[in-house]
Amino acid sequence: MPKLESLARYPLATLPTPLDPAPRLSQELGVRVLIKRDDLTGFALGGNKARKLEFLVADALAQGADTLVTGGGTQSNHARMTAAAARKLGLDVTIVFFGAPPATVNGNLLLDQLLGAELVYANTDDKLETDRVVQRVADDLRARGRKPYVIPVGGSTVLGCCSYILAVGELLAQLEAQSVKPDYVFVATGSCGTQSGILAGMKYYQAAIPVHGITVSRAKSEGVERITRLVKSTAEFLKCPMPLDPDEIIINDGYLGPGYAIPTAAGNAAIRMVARLEGIFLDPVYTGKTMAGMIDLARRGEIKRGATVVFWHTGGVPAIFAIAG
Ligand SMILES: *Cc1c(COP(=O)(O)O)cnc(C)c1O
Repeated sequence: MPKLESLARYPLATLPTPLDPAPRLSQELGVRVLIKRDDLTGFALGGNKARKLEFLVADALAQGADTLVTGGGTQSNHARMTAAAARKLGLDVTIVFFGAPPATVNGNLLLDQLLGAELVYANTDDKLETDRVVQRVADDLRARGRKPYVIPVGGSTVLGCCSYILAVGELLAQLEAQSVKPDYVFVATGSCGTQSGILAGMKYYQAAIPVHGITVSRAKSEGVERITRLVKSTAEFLKCPMPLDPDEIIINDGYLGPGYAIPTAAGNAAIRMVARLEGIFLDPVYTGKTMAGMIDLARRGEIKRGATVVFWHTGGVPAIFAIAG
């Protein structure tokens, strides 16, 4: 059991992140909302990937890596933070993007350039093909005598998952200190590592708060399959049973809109609402759509009036400067 606490970890994030009340948003929705501010993890403009990268880069260092390699969309927060982590460690970094080079360089992509990351375009929207290009880049580096460390899209590995188990421990301590018992946790779901880690964390700490994931990229069935697999391998890795009932994996696909990183009217309205009520910025790719879902479920009474909800703000703010709202 102490294995989780003794995993190698390279400090990147400023922790604990605040658990802030959102009184004006709460009043508007008739639901008590607390916001877990993982947009404030600090390092390289923050976000959930800082937690995952603390464990991933520690593993890279232990393996003697000299280059980090990962993939994602051009507005990937994970790519930006991986590039920044590589620089902090004095490593090289290559990022493989889906698709072709965009006409304008802004948001996260601009930050990737500032960080001097090597940028490769897979010239396909096929994510599996992008994964193959990532492997090819790593093979080429190895052939040149380099030591690449490949981080899968979104950092959603067992180690990434472990970082969110510990984040649940952090949240539970804050809830206890504030004497709050939430009815739900809401979180954006992309590559599924965060939701998997939160679910695993609820098992690890024996807390029974339902976790409501709003998918912003994948089909629900694919998400359920990924979460099942990731929680299972994390439980095996930690040698800690984490039996997950299928109905504990809640993925809502009602707020994705036309697709990943394509803004929706409801998502943009949610971004404006939270900015104007709380002075907090959400992002158009992940947290805006997730908040749109939470608002809609509150308005439709599926989240009961007077319920308490933790909205896990996973960051992503640089995309505001790229994707028009
Ligand atoms: C990556 C990301 C997510 C989703 O996390 P996953 O572990 O990939 O599901 C949510 N919000 C933001 C801002 C992200 O960058």
